[in-house]
Amino acid sequence: MPPPPGGTVDFDVLLLGGGLSLLYAPLLAARGLRVAVVEQHRAGQAHREWNASWAELQALVQDGLLDQAALEGLLLARYQHGVCRWHGGGEQQVRGVLDCAVDAAALLQLARQRAEAQGVTFFDACRCLAVGANDSGVRVLCRRDAGELCLRARLVLDGRGAQSPYGQTDLICPTVGGVMEGLRFDPRVGDILATTQHVEDGRQYIWEGFPGRAGQIAIYLFYYAPRRSVGPGALQALYERFFATLSQFKSGRGELVRPTFGLIPGWSRLCRGPAAPHQRIVLVGDAAARHSPLTFCGFGATLRSLQPVSQGIAAFVASDRLGGRPVLPASLVDDRPLHTATGALARVMAQPPPNDPAALNTLLNVAFGTLEEMGNEAFAALLQDRMALGQFTEFLQQTSKRFPQVYPLVWRSLGSAALLRWSAAVGTSWLRHRVRWRAA
Ligand SMILES: Cc1cc2nc3c(=O)[nH]c(=O)nc-3n(C[C@H](O)[C@H](O)[C@H](O)COP(=O)(O)OP(=O)(O)OC[C@H]3O[C@@H](n4cnc5c(N)ncnc54)[C@H](O)[C@@H]3O)c2cc1C
Repeated sequence: MPPPPGGTVDFDVLLLGGGLSLLYAPLLAARGLRVAVVEQHRAGQAHREWNASWAELQALVQDGLLDQAALEGLLLARYQHGVCRWHGGGEQQVRGVLDCAVDAAALLQLARQRAEAQGVTFFDACRCLAVGANDSGVRVLCRRDAGELCLRARLVLDGRGAQSPYGQTDLICPTVGGVMEGLRFDPRVGDILATTQHVEDGRQYIWEGFPGRAGQIAIYLFYYAPRRSVGPGALQALYERFFATLSQFKSGRGELVRPTFGLIPGWSRLCRGPAAPHQRIVLVGDAAARHSPLTFCGFGATLRSLQPVSQGIAAFVASDRLGGRPVLPASLVDDRPLHTATGALARVMAQPPPNDPAALNTLLNVAFGTLEEMGNEAFAALLQDRMALGQFTEFLQQTSKRFPQVYPLVWRSLGSAALLRWSAAVGTSWLRHRVRWRAA
């Protein structure tokens, strides 16, 4: 369904999906672009809670979306530090990671207000059915009320999350939980990752706990899994486990006041990742899965991408308006070299060796202990996708020295072919990075 050659466009950019990716809309409009948002429900309604670090949140201020006072007004809580805790092992502390709980609903409402003030058009209750692109533009077919709507644009930003038809990935992270009251917790500490059991039924279940408003804490239970192994009913089954095992994680008579759940796509980088069929369709957010395959922090990844994405798209549209042959800057589709390395670890988490249920917790305890010893900066850098490949190699070396069983464990989980692909990809990525660094 491509647009007719030379046809006029209704908008410069059509954003499909008004979840977290709504943040791009006011930024693009502020750069003088005609923007519209197509959302099957109502754009700007957060159904999740988000944590990020104060440093990561500064992107919202630097990009002009908020001022410092408005950002502070969005914070529900700020912690002194975060902890990672492993069943049968110890506890490691880290500062400056996921230590700010953000009122996601208020953030997106604010983004919508800013967008509306800048003339962004909203198509709420409008479901995108099909997208077609060619060198002259993109056409999007939608269903709204009982009728169909056809919109034309120079470029589409696909922010449909896990529902994007292009966002196919090999991993998925089913996550359930929500905001709870009545539990005992320390409001100054975030539980970044915690396990209370060893691997069960081939899955390592992991808890997170992030204090929010007074007396409230957002608790999540999740696991890593190969995408093909997660069918309908996975979230319901996980909720059953959530309530059955919550007391292992937090004490008290917990009441779920706001459920939040979802399937977060993850890409191990060991296979082909999400890709759009034409450069005029740009994947963002979960649809692009450029976030860490290990931490699945889509919020942090989106914050980092706000400036390069809005800048790159503005440049593309400017060239397109002049009738040039615009090319998307590589920075829009580029991936962090570190993700090539951590992707294999995510696969191991998703396919732990079945014959030794305690092995994964032992490995995690050693690995996070190594990180803690490497210092807070290294620890935070890995969790925030900032660690350089050289330092990551050092981390792997130190971990394997302390826990040599890591080799057979990884080999049993990945198999020889994936292990070879991983080594080659990490080597290539490291070399490419070195060449670029030297050239710069
Ligand atoms: C329980 C939970 C807690 C999380 N906590 C954190 C956290 O603390 N920190 C962090 O960094 N990340 C967190 N994440 C991850 C983060 O929420 C996601 O990465 C982020 O929401 C992805 O945003 P998105 O806009 O790409 O997709 P989504 O938020 O999934 O939004 C997609 C939007 O597209 C719309 N849509 C889909 N299909 C169509 C269609 N055909 N037509 C029109 N509209 C459509 C949907 O209705 C939806 O509004 C969490 C995720 C979950 C599930």
